Amino acid sequence: MSTSNGAVLSVEGLKKHFPVSRSLLGRTRQYLKAVDGVSFEIEPGMTYGLVGESGCGKTTTAKLILLLEEPTGGRILFGGEPVSGLKSDGLREYKASVQAVFQDPWASLNPRMRVRNIIGEPLEINTSLTKGEVRSRVAGLLEEVGLAPYQADLFPHEFSGGQRQRIGVARALALNPKLVILDEPVSALDVSIRAQIMNLLKDLQAEHNLSYLLIAHHLATVRHMCDRVGVMYLGRIVEEADTEELYENPLHPYTRALMSAALPSHPDIQRDEIILTGEVPSPLDTPPGCHFHPRCPARFDPCDSVEPVKTEPSSGHRVVCHLYGGA
Ligand code: SF4
Repeated sequence: MSTSNGAVLSVEGLKKHFPVSRSLLGRTRQYLKAVDGVSFEIEPGMTYGLVGESGCGKTTTAKLILLLEEPTGGRILFGGEPVSGLKSDGLREYKASVQAVFQDPWASLNPRMRVRNIIGEPLEINTSLTKGEVRSRVAGLLEEVGLAPYQADLFPHEFSGGQRQRIGVARALALNPKLVILDEPVSALDVSIRAQIMNLLKDLQAEHNLSYLLIAHHLATVRHMCDRVGVMYLGRIVEEADTEELYENPLHPYTRALMSAALPSHPDIQRDEIILTGEVPSPLDTPPGCHFHPRCPARFDPCDSVEPVKTEPSSGHRVVCHLYGGA
């Protein structure tokens, strides 16, 4: 399957609004707009990064793509096909083709299962491989992620954090996916082994032409891993560009604030969290005009009343801000 533009995954105007309160008559009064019109594309073999502070909608976007939540609006296209129209075999193929690696390998691996069963389970459920074939596929996957075949007989607690994340990666690869969603894949790991896991993911991507959607708040990880990045604020992408362009020439005041907040004042300081001044407004009660205006050091006249629209000041570099004519 391929789209006319070649994207593995396209997300168009995706929305997830959660109803959060009801009147006495049962009418919904308020919505939490966790994802509010998000669009991006992921090309084969490419890594697209979504960054932003906690609660900006990154993980809900991932859950929508993984079909763990139903969208309120917009659509997801996989190889050009709307995912909402997929039935039985098509749906099964989509679920096999889109896998995930989560932040906490400890929580995502069943502690009572041997590694052989953890990695082999998707193969047993989704393929007609014999027991022997599953066994040898599991051994091959363990080797691919830098573990030894004999370790298939061990339990998750017999591994280090980094090794457990390798097991999570092996399980995600079992069904030969096209797209893997990496939800903060290294942020729970010791700094010393993050690079190893990131390099493993890059090697596997090159070998299998995998596409990745990387959800992360650690800007150095995103820069190392991604080809293109979308910056999310209150459920929307406010800036999107190829990685080097974004890091060298951030345009949106929010992106600039993220970048400067992530730069430690002393080289020995290891900063993982995005720390910005000012409270993130509640997604239940988003400010009028530009949603960033209460925290924006560059706000001017129209910002608190007129919503900016997306503009493209240079090729492929898109921003939603009045400073660039987005009115
Ligand atoms: Fe700041 Fe105005 Fe741009 Fe919003 S539109 S980011 S408030 S300058």
